[in-house]
Amino acid sequence: MIKAFVSRHNTLRTRLLLLFLFLVAVILAVTLFVVRQATYDHSNQQLLNHSQTSASVIRDKIDNQSELLETALTDIAKNFSVIRLIAGAKEDTASLASAMLNYQQRLDTDFYIVLDENQAPLIASDSILLSELNQSLGQEGTRWVQINNQHYLVGASPVKFVQTSRKINGWIIMGVHASRIFNQELIELTGLQVTLLKPGKTHLVLGSTLPEPQLSALTTQSVLLDASLHPISLLDKNYIYDMVSLSDESIYYIMLATPEEDAYLSYYDLLGQLILVLFIAALIALVAAMMLSNSITNPILKLVKATNQIRQGEYTKDFPACSTKEVDSLTFAIKSMQDGIVEREEQIQELAYFDKLTCLPNRNQFSEQLTKSIANSDKERIMVAMMDVDRFKDINDTVGHHTGDRLLQLIADRLRTYSVGNDFYARIGGDEFGLIFTETNGHSPQIIASEIAELFDKPFNLDGLVLDVAVSIGVALYPFDADDAQGLMQRADIALYSCKDHHDSYAIYKPELNKHSVQRLNLMSELKEALAAGQLELYYQPKLSVASNQIESVECLIRWIHPVHGFIPPDDFIGLAEQTGAIRYVTHWGLREALMQQRKWCQAGHDLNMAVNISALDLVDMKLPAYVSELLSEFNVEPEKLTLEVTESAIMGDPESAIKALNTLRRMGIVLSIDDFGTGFSSMAQLKKMPVDELKIDKAFVLDLATNQEDKVMVKTLVALAHNLGLKTVAEGVEDEEALNYLQQINCTKAQGYHLSRPLPAAQFDEWHTEFLQQKGQDKIA
Ligand code: C2E
Ligand code: CA
Ligand code: CA
Repeated sequence: MIKAFVSRHNTLRTRLLLLFLFLVAVILAVTLFVVRQATYDHSNQQLLNHSQTSASVIRDKIDNQSELLETALTDIAKNFSVIRLIAGAKEDTASLASAMLNYQQRLDTDFYIVLDENQAPLIASDSILLSELNQSLGQEGTRWVQINNQHYLVGASPVKFVQTSRKINGWIIMGVHASRIFNQELIELTGLQVTLLKPGKTHLVLGSTLPEPQLSALTTQSVLLDASLHPISLLDKNYIYDMVSLSDESIYYIMLATPEEDAYLSYYDLLGQLILVLFIAALIALVAAMMLSNSITNPILKLVKATNQIRQGEYTKDFPACSTKEVDSLTFAIKSMQDGIVEREEQIQELAYFDKLTCLPNRNQFSEQLTKSIANSDKERIMVAMMDVDRFKDINDTVGHHTGDRLLQLIADRLRTYSVGNDFYARIGGDEFGLIFTETNGHSPQIIASEIAELFDKPFNLDGLVLDVAVSIGVALYPFDADDAQGLMQRADIALYSCKDHHDSYAIYKPELNKHSVQRLNLMSELKEALAAGQLELYYQPKLSVASNQIESVECLIRWIHPVHGFIPPDDFIGLAEQTGAIRYVTHWGLREALMQQRKWCQAGHDLNMAVNISALDLVDMKLPAYVSELLSEFNVEPEKLTLEVTESAIMGDPESAIKALNTLRRMGIVLSIDDFGTGFSSMAQLKKMPVDELKIDKAFVLDLATNQEDKVMVKTLVALAHNLGLKTVAEGVEDEEALNYLQQINCTKAQGYHLSRPLPAAQFDEWHTEFLQQKGQDKIA
């Protein structure tokens, strides 16, 4: 709990406040101590001064009184009538008494005594006094005398009948009671309790202004005689006192005492005021500290709030106004950080939603837009189209990526020129574009798709390079084909694949396309792994040299034995692999596999020419010739023992680059064959330019050769044409003896087909070949 409390309050503000409070407390304590000490000393000094002054006042007063008494007594003693009365005192006491009483009253003394020449009393104001008097008073001057336990200031003056004589004839003595000297008036005069005493074990107190109980307590208490302040406790009442001797060498002392509470009254007063002032100062300091700490921490707290907002992605303008330099630079840093984040977020937004190359929205935005359009559509029809550029990979490989990119920009530009209403175009990736039409202005999807395809009829001019580009467009319709963006895009993609397969410029999605496509798409993702996993295999089909009746060459044909789908015919995946570009891996794998097999046969004494099928894409693969030559030397195979079969349509797709590629291969000494010849539309002129060695007549013309007259004419013409051009001929799809015989008649170079053998795995091919040779041997013998 304490830990939690500490951590909750472990803030800069609390620390500053605590530091401040601590400093204020220290300053206050020191101030209080110093001032209190100074004030206390000052109070003491004042008290001491006061008591010293009071002491001298009292001394003066006593001196005065003594002097007055002495002078008055001297005067009386010299008074002629008084002298006379004293001289006649024995006869007339009454007159002397009356005169003396008169003087006593005038001088305001407490008693008088008249002594004769022998110091024997003549008369006294109080007879008891005389009885108690146990000392001689006949001594000139004043002094303190104790009579009957009472203390008096007593004055005595000698009476001389003859002034010039030395003889003393009597004494006049008067006394003032100590209590009349040490009276209320004295307190009022000095403000102190004054006591005249003779210190001793039990002090002899001559007179005092102290109240009776305290006074009697005092007599038994020891006192200090030095002239400084001492505390003393008298019956629970505390006093501060000072002792001053009555006169130099006197045994009497004046004790000046003040009740403690009065002594330090001003000190306590001052202390109280001081504490009040310090308390107010502390309060002000505290408020100032809070304001200061707030002025430091508030901007920081504001910055913390701002950073938290930024963290949550809310951008704020609520930054602290001008504060300290440090906070200002922190504010500036956080502001710039926010600006940086905003800027980068915009960039990311742009990257996330726009394609940099074409400045069209990208796939993300496309699917978002499609989702939005669907949400706003109210079940109105939405047309979604996926468009891609035919053979873009080839183009890219041939003209280079830079020009390929430029082409994509031009395609995007051309696309932008088309509009039927509320259109949305995006680049989905690679050479694929996505189109959304929410308003079709009465145009059917077919019309829109064909109009877009027509946009690309005109060739593109890329810095002098003129490129013919065709596009394929797959169309899906909301709400018929799917009701969400994902589904629609997928359906449009399926339609796109279908139109590629059928060489149409566009296709509208139909459910039948779906099953096929999904399966095929899945296959494609598996193909690469299948190659590595050894699911693909080459089968070999012999080609019979018709004239010599010998097997001099063989064609390898790929087989995919899928662990789930079983046997997949090449027609089901080769075309797709061509579209996705995966064909390259297939070709590379096939070439290596085939040449490896050929090496084995060669070592076994069968010198066979190996024919490998390559596709149009392989023709534009710049690395293919080098790869082939590597394999030839690796397996030590002569180039003329390798035939590459390329379909007529692959060559005619782009005859010029095909010719270039074929020339390179031919220069290496490799045999080249045009496969499926007769299905394409090659002209004589084109055929002449082709650097090939062999025409492979498509099996469509051969299968029914035995029975179909037209096929016979066709095949015969093709064979003659080829021979005119110096090319060898191969007829594939020979399924019966008659066809073979006819081919022999028309001098076709080679025959290939089920009549001889189906394509076989290598081992079975070996068996077949051995059997074929044996058969031939027997024929010879026969
Ligand atoms: P193609 O090159 O024209 O191969 C000949 C096709 O005809 C083979 O089909 C073969 O089995 C079949 N055939 C051979 N003799 C006869 C016959 O007497 N009667 C009939 N009805 N058919 C016969 P397959 O093996 O299904 O191959 C189909 C196509 O797949 C091939 O046509 C070729 O274009 C392609 N292909 C096969 N293997 C490869 C390969 O390794 N690479 C490439 N790029 N394409 C290949
Ligand atoms: Ca072939
Ligand atoms: Ca063929």
